[in-house]
Formats: sequence, structure tokens, C-alpha cells
Amino acid sequence: EGSDWGEERVSGAAVIAQALKTQDVQYMFGVVGFPVTEIAVAAQQLGIRYIGMRNEQAACYAASAIGYLTSRPGVCLVVSGPGLIHALGGMANANMNCWPLIVIAGSSERSQETMGAFQEFPQAVRSSIYGRPGACYIDIPADLVILQENVNSVKYKECCMPPPISMAETSAVCMAASVIRSAKQPLLIIGKGAAYAHAEDSIRKLVEQCNLPFLPTPMGKGVVPDSHPNCVGAARSRALQSADVIMLFGARLNWILHFGLPPRYQPDVKFIQVDICAEELGNNVKPAVTLLGDVNAVSKQELASRKSLPMNYYTVFYHVQEQLPRDCFVISEGANTMDIGRTVLQNYLPRHRLDAGTFGTMGVGLGFAIAAALVAKDKSPGQRVICVEGDSAFGFSGMEVETICRYNLPIILLVVNNNGIYQGFNADTWKEMLNFQDATTASPPMCLLPNSHYEQVMSAFGGKGYFVQTPEELQNSLRQTLADTSTPSLINIMIEPQSTRKAQDFHWLTRSNM
Ligand code: ADP
Ligand code: MG
Repeated sequence: EGSDWGEERVSGAAVIAQALKTQDVQYMFGVVGFPVTEIAVAAQQLGIRYIGMRNEQAACYAASAIGYLTSRPGVCLVVSGPGLIHALGGMANANMNCWPLIVIAGSSERSQETMGAFQEFPQAVRSSIYGRPGACYIDIPADLVILQENVNSVKYKECCMPPPISMAETSAVCMAASVIRSAKQPLLIIGKGAAYAHAEDSIRKLVEQCNLPFLPTPMGKGVVPDSHPNCVGAARSRALQSADVIMLFGARLNWILHFGLPPRYQPDVKFIQVDICAEELGNNVKPAVTLLGDVNAVSKQELASRKSLPMNYYTVFYHVQEQLPRDCFVISEGANTMDIGRTVLQNYLPRHRLDAGTFGTMGVGLGFAIAAALVAKDKSPGQRVICVEGDSAFGFSGMEVETICRYNLPIILLVVNNNGIYQGFNADTWKEMLNFQDATTASPPMCLLPNSHYEQVMSAFGGKGYFVQTPEELQNSLRQTLADTSTPSLINIMIEPQSTRKAQDFHWLTRSNM
């Protein structure tokens, strides 16, 4: 504009480069030519790394991978016409992969004279990374690149914030949790959406707390390491075929996953679909539950809902395993308590696990624990004895708690209490059953008295008793008992009375009466 001759001028190319820099663009790939060369030079001068490639297609693939790896779009800079046509392959690939990308190409001159602020930059950045990530194209007319503009008349939009984190509906989260809980053969499929969402910590926790088998898609590999014991990648077809509930975490039911259809899947398999893109939900199959939101946020929601009550075996043993000293003795007996406990609780030393043994004997636990405590005291002071008992199993030798207290052996007794042998009922159901009939007629033989306060057996003899119903109470009582090396203690852990272990696929492996 005529009046201010003293003002510093800036080229359109420099403005574009500065706008990209302001949007936190760090990498630019391209093949230069008229009219975009100046943009590459200007970008380089501002510290954006420019990588000159030999074909726009490769440049575009590279820029899109930057988007996947860094969550901010990489830029692909190409000339108009053939350059842009070559870049189309990369744009399509980025879009199909749901990876953010910005492609900038020059085009012929405009006949307008002013440039204005580059509003289109933040808009392109935003649409590339918000919602489902994807490719964006910015067309820059040639005259804009070479135009000289008054420095002060150029305004840059501030850096576009990372996308807001969206969470799924609470009711859907609860529903998903109960569908997973009722699953006989659950399977978690981890896709590249989970990788892009940086959901590794939350998904790993979910896998471990629910003891879920998981299958990564090709680019979902590594979100939870392939070496993880729950990875069923080696038996992919079989895992897909036998699952009755499948949680899709940032993966689409496209050809890679055989469209979610038989014969690769059971015809009545229930899908729980987690995706950030609403349009994706219900594609190809009718999901049992849809969770619209960010994979990482939704995984955390599921984890939080797992803390809902009552606890089940896996929740209990997860928290116990987290605090168990590596060198402790683990004594265990019970049905589900011993079976599930064995799969989750780790042993690191020989002769440090004693359980119902060859004869499947109930009632051995407290005697074994007393022996272990004496050996620990004499031979390896400081080693703790943890005795993990089902409520039924505890009944076979519960009075030895008096012995433990008389000799002041700092044994930690955990009674995993489901109000019964194998399974029991909650207090309300129990009351209803007994409403009209005598207990000897009405009570199923496996039932034990609901909410029995076994911890009072311990406090009766001067040890410490804890009654716990939540993961927090369990964590706290475990912490206290482990810190106290001189007092015997008993933690009575209430769990879901109908809680069981995951179904065994091989019937000949199912134990009949333990
Ligand atoms: P794969 O090839 O690993 O199966 P896909 O590309 O088919 O993965 O699916 C990835 C899915 O992840 C897409 O549907 C996409 O919308 C979704 N997605 C991308 N980012 C997120 C996110 N942050 N949260 C949830 N879903 C996401
Ligand atoms: Mg029991």
C-alpha cells in the first residue's frame, strides 16, 4: 500500500513458511519447482526441516508418516498439475490410514491483489488432526508466493491446539464392561487408531486387569508388546473364530479383519466398537455396544468402570500381584481362588508355592502357612507368607488362626469371599430364597452365609482383621499388612458371588471339583 515506504516487506513465501512454523510444522517433504521453490527456501530459513525427494508420491507418503508418528501434520510441498497428481497417491493413502497430512501445491496466478491473513492454515491443520485424522490440501496461487507484503499487515493465527479429547457415553461404558464380564472367549483387537491415540498404557492395563487375550492388527503391533503372554497373534485365525465378544480398539472391520463376518467369526459374535469417527460405527456389522470417543480416553473409562463393585477374581489378583514381594511364599487353596490365583500370582523362587496339591485337599492352607512362616523365620528372615484362601477352603481349618496368633506368626491371610463353594449368592437373593422356605430346603448346597465376617476370626485372637469391598480398600489393607512385619492379619475380600474364571476351551482340561 502506497503510503508507508519505510515499512519492511515480506514475501508471500515467507508468510506461508512462518504460518507453518507457527502451526508447529517441523518437517516438509517435496519436489520443488515453480512457484513453490521459494516456500521451501523460506521454510528452511525458519528451521523447518526440508527434505527434497525424487517423486511427489514418496514425499507425500513420508509427510503422512510424520503425521502418524508425531500427531502433528507433516507437509508435502509440490508444484501444480503433475506434482499434485503424483501427490494424490499419498493423500489417498493418508486418508485411508486416517493419518494427518497437509499438501501444499502452487497453482496459477490470481487476479486479486491483496493476500490477507492465512486463515486456511489453521483450518487445514485443524481438520487434519481433529476428529478422524486425514489429508488436507492447500492450493497456493503463484502470485501469492512472490507477492511482497507489509510485515505489519500480516497476522498469523496461533498454533492450533491438539484435538479435544472426547469420551464415550457413560451408559455405553457400563454396558461394554458387563458384556466383557459375561464373555466366555473375549478378544481385544488393537488397531493403528490405538497406536495413534497413544493408548499403550491404558490398553495394557485393561489387558492385564481383565486378563484379556489381544490381537494386534499389522500396525497395531507393539501397542502392547508382541511378547506379552496375552498376545494371541500366533493363533490369529483361531482367536477370531472362537471369540464370543470382540472389542475393537481403533481398528476397522475392513478386509484386514475379514469384514467381521462368518466364517472368520462366529455368526453371533458381539462387537464392542471404539472409534473416534461416528460414521465408522456399525460399518459391516451391528455392534452390541458402540463407544464413540478417543481410544485412550475410552480405555481409561473402561478401567475406571472395572473398579465398579463388586470386584471379581481378576481384579482382586491383579491388585494382590501388584504388591506381592517377589520372594514371598504363596500358599493357596480353594476352587476358583486357587485356579485363577495360580494364573495371575507369580512365583520367583523354588519351593515357595504350596497348594491343594496332588490330592486336591482342602484344609491344608493354614497348616502349610504356619510351616512356611517357621521356615521363613529360621532360614530367610523377612520373607512373607501370603495365604490365599477361598471362603469355603478357609472354613476347613479356620481355627488355626488361633494357632497363628498364639505363636505370633506374621502370616497374611487373604480370604477371597464369594459366599460359597464355587459360587454363592448375594445377601438379597439369599434373603429372597429363604423368605418362604426353610434354609435346608431352599439353600443351594454350594451356598455359604452371605457377607460372613471371617476377618473377625482374626481379630478375635488379637490379629488384624480387614473387611474390604473395593479395590482401594484392598490396596490399602495390603499395604498396611505388608508394612507390619510383626502381626498376623486376615483380609476378607468380598467379590461378586457369581464371578467365575474365563471358560476353558478344552473340556479335558477343566478340573472337575477343585
Ligand atoms: P487397522 O488397520 O489397524 O485395523 P484402521 O485404520 O482400520 O486400523 O482403523 C483405525 C481406526 O481408528 C479408524 O476408524 C479411525 O477413525 C480410528 N481412530 C483414529 N484415531 C483415533 C483416536 N484417537 N481414538 C479413537 N479412534 C481413532
Ligand atoms: Mg468361595
